[in-house]
Amino acid sequence: MVIGSGFGGLAAAVRLGARGYRVTVLERLEAPGGRASVHRQDGFTFDAGPTIITAPHLFEALWRLAGRQLSDDVELRAIDPFYRLRFDDGEVIDCHADGEAMAAEVARIAPSDLAGYHRFMARSREICALGFERLGHVPFLSLAAMARHAPDLLRLGGALSVYGLVSRYVKDERLRLALSFHPLFVGGNPFDTTAVYGLISHLERRWGVHFAMGGTGALVRGLVGLIEGQGNRILYKADVAEIMVEAGAVRGVRLRAGESLAADIVVSNADAAYTYRELLPERARKRWTNRRIDAARYSMSLFVWYFGTLRRYEEVGHHTILLGPRYRGLLDDIFNAKTLASDMSLYLHRPTATDPSLAPEGCDAFYVLSPVPHLDAGIDWQERAEPYRQAIARRLSETLLPGLEDEIVTSRVTTPQDFKDRYLSVKGAAFSLAPTLTQSAWFRPHNRSEDVKGLYLVGAGTQPGAGLPGVLSSARILDALVPDARVSA
Ligand SMILES: Cc1cc2nc3c(=O)[nH]c(=O)nc-3n(C[C@H](O)[C@H](O)[C@H](O)COP(=O)(O)OP(=O)(O)OC[C@H]3O[C@@H](n4cnc5c(N)ncnc54)[C@H](O)[C@@H]3O)c2cc1C
Repeated sequence: MVIGSGFGGLAAAVRLGARGYRVTVLERLEAPGGRASVHRQDGFTFDAGPTIITAPHLFEALWRLAGRQLSDDVELRAIDPFYRLRFDDGEVIDCHADGEAMAAEVARIAPSDLAGYHRFMARSREICALGFERLGHVPFLSLAAMARHAPDLLRLGGALSVYGLVSRYVKDERLRLALSFHPLFVGGNPFDTTAVYGLISHLERRWGVHFAMGGTGALVRGLVGLIEGQGNRILYKADVAEIMVEAGAVRGVRLRAGESLAADIVVSNADAAYTYRELLPERARKRWTNRRIDAARYSMSLFVWYFGTLRRYEEVGHHTILLGPRYRGLLDDIFNAKTLASDMSLYLHRPTATDPSLAPEGCDAFYVLSPVPHLDAGIDWQERAEPYRQAIARRLSETLLPGLEDEIVTSRVTTPQDFKDRYLSVKGAAFSLAPTLTQSAWFRPHNRSEDVKGLYLVGAGTQPGAGLPGVLSSARILDALVPDARVSA
């Protein structure tokens, strides 16, 4: 039995199904995908969350396990440039797929940093080979298992932050930003996320940045098709209230509606902190006590505005990062001071640059993300959402999307409160536990519960971490942990 149909839960279900388990996925919402669900309104299709697909081979592996090819169901289109960074003074850096084109861009910005850039990319490749290719799907169940790899990770700079690592190689602040902002994709502050996440630069170079035609929802629908093709099922509006435990082993789950469902194995794709804090009675937990969960550090949250425009903005690419005047200071406000700053750095997604079918003819679909503090900031989002949306609209109108206010035909927002209410994410964090050194590998919630036999965890809050490569890898780890199928799951 799998609780939750985020990418982690769907991937776990495919993997268990391929090993002969009879799997039921229980999803509290009315549709699959979790953070990757789809909003359709007024003829526009908006992916709610992930759109940057960086490790397509992890999806291809799932399709192969179900006896199909990914390309049978979903077309992945390579995006180039990966994204454009636009600085507050109007300067831009295009992050190119091609190594030589990227080096030329670096040389244009800061010629004296070119050699350092090449050395950084070589380091990123080494970190990726160890941190992602070798260890990304390894269950760190014991401190000893982690200690075995610690010297190598430390040699590669793992004790530094991503920004700290990048700064050893390049001096230009714009380049430092361009090479260090990636932890924000997984909910971390580049100034205190372990430099292991410096691997993302190479990950993108090695496998590219892709977009699923039809939207990321096409991947979700594809995975649902694989699960059903394996003879398994997904139940919607099935809100799990409790994981039932007897004599230290799972017995099944109880739904909020009252029904109990028996299972020998339960895989929770619900937020890891929520799984422990709310779904398992405290007496069943020794390691993940309420105190420990409350003391953990959580990722930032996001304010997301989805909107459609009456016209197309052809000069805007698929992915743009629109930077404000501050980098470190803004991140301090978000992660440490936990205040809503008046300046902002935004990520603008224009999927219709690649797939015009996501909007009515002649229109554009967009979403814009603004990283904001999680709910500990005490911001009343009911009150602040509309003024904040308007401030974002003004900023976009002044920079990338002139005249925007008069072009909007459809609009909706997601606030940190929605991350809590819709996805049951502790503190409304958009990416669960923050990816700091002391919350990574063995220190992160394990994929097999330390306390309850038959309970497994996948998803952003578990090892290895958030982002699609992370959550798909968390499901892959189950293959090493879950015993062979007996009769049912
Ligand atoms: C706006 C946004 C943009 C992003 N962009 C990217 C990107 O471009 N590329 C990338 O790689 N990553 C991106 N990410 C990160 C990535 O989307 C997430 O890390 C990943 O999708 C999380 O997957 P998950 O398996 O943890 O499950 P989730 O998506 O968190 O899903 C968990 C599911 O469990 C269900 N559930 C919870 N509790 C219960 C319960 N008690 N009973 C039944 N069901 C329950 C929820 O309803 C939900 O459907 C983005 C995230 C966000 C929010």
